[in-house]
Amino acid sequence: MQITFRGVRGSYPVAAPHSVRYGGNTPCLEVVAGETCLIIDAGTGIRSLGKDLVEHDQREIHLLISHTHWDHVQGFPHFAPQYNQNAHIRIYALAHESRSLGDIFRAQQQAPFYPVPLANVEAQIEFIELQDGEPITIGEAQITCHRLNHPSVTGGYRIEHQGKVLSYISDVDLYGPILLGDGMKNGSSEQQRVWHQHLQNNARDLAHRADLMVCDTFFLPEEYKPDWGHSRPEDALRLGEEAQIERVALFHHEPHRSDDEIDAIQERYRKEAPFDLFASVEGLELAL
Ligand SMILES: [Zn+2]
Ligand SMILES: [Zn+2]
Repeated sequence: MQITFRGVRGSYPVAAPHSVRYGGNTPCLEVVAGETCLIIDAGTGIRSLGKDLVEHDQREIHLLISHTHWDHVQGFPHFAPQYNQNAHIRIYALAHESRSLGDIFRAQQQAPFYPVPLANVEAQIEFIELQDGEPITIGEAQITCHRLNHPSVTGGYRIEHQGKVLSYISDVDLYGPILLGDGMKNGSSEQQRVWHQHLQNNARDLAHRADLMVCDTFFLPEEYKPDWGHSRPEDALRLGEEAQIERVALFHHEPHRSDDEIDAIQERYRKEAPFDLFASVEGLELAL
């Protein structure tokens, strides 16, 4: 499995001198599993990837969306394969109760927000709604999506290919005290306890013995806000230990975080982690 980090920044894109080394594009990972082209999230990092896919005449594209907060879908209108009549783009995400995945994507790309509505693009676009924990096979890859604790309906992905495991766990508050997702909040205290347990099991299942876990570490401990739905490096270390992972990539960097600050975070948590740790960098390619 070949992985390329196309966007590693959380919340909104940044273009500033402080962010040139780690990069300012919002989340997007390119994952090549044998002949299969997988993409996780459609933040602004997907724009450069789309250009490359058109150049290489890649026609079958599978886009796994964690959730539809803007930083994870805002690159999609600028994704060049949409305008390629030979392309077939399948978009996967957890089902919402009240709105279809297709409606959500059509809404972001309609006038007056964008000049080309999704109905008018050349590519064939298909929407596939997933259920929490439902395994699917795409090409030679086995994929599972599990719900996570974050506002709206948010899932993480576990991708297995030829015995290697990539786990993508963003956005999430891994051990937070508040239930944040749609449909989680209004139950009895017993129902809420069951939700907390379920969500922690989900994160552990996603990460179990992963060769690489890409994990939301938006906050430093002193910045943590329990109602935002993001984690700290400490949370990633705790999950990594529980799940016996090999390597963690700190991900979804806070937009104001400077390159030097990210260097320092990487240095600090490398000393504490019982496994390999690095801060995600835009453009980084690695093989599992
Ligand atoms: Zn995000
Ligand atoms: Zn989010």
